[in-house]
Amino acid sequence: MESETTVNDVVDIASEELESAFSQWSISEDVVKAEDVVDKRVIPGGRNVLITSALPYVNNVPHLGNIIGSILSADVFARYSRLKGVNTLYATGTDEYGTATENKALEEGVTPKEICDKYYKIHKDIYDWFDISYDYFGRTTTEEQTAIAQQIFWRLHENQYLLEEVTQQLHCPKCDRFLADRFVEGNCPFCDYCEARGDQCDKCGKLINAIELKEPKCKLCSTTPQIRSSKHLFLDLPKLQPKIEEWFKETTQSKENYWSQTAKVIASSWLRDGLKPRCITRDLKWGTPVPLEGFTDKVFYVWYDAPIGYPSITAHHNKLKDIAMAYQQMSQEEDNSSFIPLALYLSSDYFLEHPSRDVRLLVACAIADVFRVYAPNAPYQHPELIKHIFLFFIQQLKGLQDPKDATFKRYFYLLENLAWVKSFNICIELEDSQSIFAQLFSLIFKIVNENHSDKVKNFMLDMLTPLIIEADTVSSKLIEIILWHIIDPKKTMNKQANWLAVQILKKTNKTMEPYLVSYFTNAITHGIDDNAGDIDGDEETSAVVYQKPA
Ligand SMILES: [Zn+2]
Ligand SMILES: [Zn+2]
Repeated sequence: MESETTVNDVVDIASEELESAFSQWSISEDVVKAEDVVDKRVIPGGRNVLITSALPYVNNVPHLGNIIGSILSADVFARYSRLKGVNTLYATGTDEYGTATENKALEEGVTPKEICDKYYKIHKDIYDWFDISYDYFGRTTTEEQTAIAQQIFWRLHENQYLLEEVTQQLHCPKCDRFLADRFVEGNCPFCDYCEARGDQCDKCGKLINAIELKEPKCKLCSTTPQIRSSKHLFLDLPKLQPKIEEWFKETTQSKENYWSQTAKVIASSWLRDGLKPRCITRDLKWGTPVPLEGFTDKVFYVWYDAPIGYPSITAHHNKLKDIAMAYQQMSQEEDNSSFIPLALYLSSDYFLEHPSRDVRLLVACAIADVFRVYAPNAPYQHPELIKHIFLFFIQQLKGLQDPKDATFKRYFYLLENLAWVKSFNICIELEDSQSIFAQLFSLIFKIVNENHSDKVKNFMLDMLTPLIIEADTVSSKLIEIILWHIIDPKKTMNKQANWLAVQILKKTNKTMEPYLVSYFTNAITHGIDDNAGDIDGDEETSAVVYQKPA
């Protein structure tokens, strides 16, 4: 599903529409603002806005049209809405079902799932590069999608809004599959163009019923297909028309009229001509399964399924948020043993390696809370797993870099939690604790900057200093990383990191003293060759020794 906006659409907005939009957005003083409430999904009595944008299809690399046509306008609106203090959730993602995905998979010789994973990541990376401010970038191939699509289906079924009809379709005997849209090619019945598809002719632009194609060929094996009948389900739109008409009138004439002029004109012309039954099932494998007996080998048509992506992506995000929230609200005093399996599930590679930054952040917050709630006996036992989790935390803490980022509050929560619980201390027991700490210190020195408040910097200190004071040893690598920031050029280049390094040395001076003495003695008496093989280390050691920072 793609939408295209033309310049005319933009220019055509009437001044009344602009005025009405403006007045809609002038919130009165007594409305609860989002900034007063941390992390509430829906603020009761407040203004809650859910923003989505047309879901880009995953069978190709995104182009500027994806950004300009949908993602960017939603981004601008989301930023505006947040600035107004409105509780805003911008959720979007990739549209992954349909014949185009199946086709692309056959082309590249992989499964549709693999195609989706590949292009999901490409899309996500590009929108991230453009710094699009969505709260969550999901996908339509999830359990939530299936659950919601089937739930809507069952309600239509119970209320008798579905019709059964037998349709004639092309079937390839060799591939043993029905040839939907793009799986069949032939001559156009209107203009004779020889590469017309089963749904449309690219030359004359006319819609085609596949069985009318002349000399049809299976696109996969070139076999001539046969006509076979197949039973399908149709949404009984004529039966729904009176209700739709009533709703259309009510919503377009009310004070809270959100319809654009274009949408109103198109909808009213459809209603005027009378709605027709529309098929909601297909003889395909890649899609949301139809749950009704007799149709279980079919999937939902994408026109029915894809719009459900908006609620399902939002639901997927909210589920993770609920999990994070559940751990956030737990206290150490309660019996939380029933949540241990979930805590273990969250530490699986599926989450720790998840391509979505938003998912990783929510999971990091939840796991940080797990360490708080179950301290000192976190349910993670295996040293390799503990190491994996803490390296994952380090990776997430990168998000602290920009305090103006929409998700900064959450990164701050993660930092505060890790600092307060002293969770990194668990790593002291690990064999490669010093290497983990070196990575953590390096990262914090790298990201700390003048936009950080004292509160943020103090939590950074609280997280780092116990790792020196309470550890059995301090590696020369870690000493170098700290000293490196109290001498030039780093001292001048990054004043905040310099401040942090000086504070760390002040707070840990008793513990550090013997390590520093042996570090310098070693460096001076044995020369820099002791660090042979470590080029960075050599330079750092000599710089530190010759500049006499102490
Ligand atoms: Zn075939
Ligand atoms: Zn044609």
